Amino acid sequence: MAEQAEEKEIGKNCGSCKKPLKRARRYYRNGGYFCNLNCFKKKEAKAASEGKE
Ligand SMILES: [Zn+2]
Repeated sequence: MAEQAEEKEIGKNCGSCKKPLKRARRYYRNGGYFCNLNCFKKKEAKAASEGKE
C-alpha cells in the first residue's frame, strides 16, 4: 500500500512576490493568490503594462 501523505497544504505562492502563502492570510483574486491587496495591485499593474488583461 502506498502511503501518500500530503506534506502540507501550502502549495500556493503569491502571484506577485512569489512568497509562499499561509492558509489564513492569503488573498484570492482573479484566479490567483496574493499576500494581500497590495500584491494583487502590483501584479495587476504589471499585467496592464504588458498589455495583458
Ligand atoms: Zn506578495
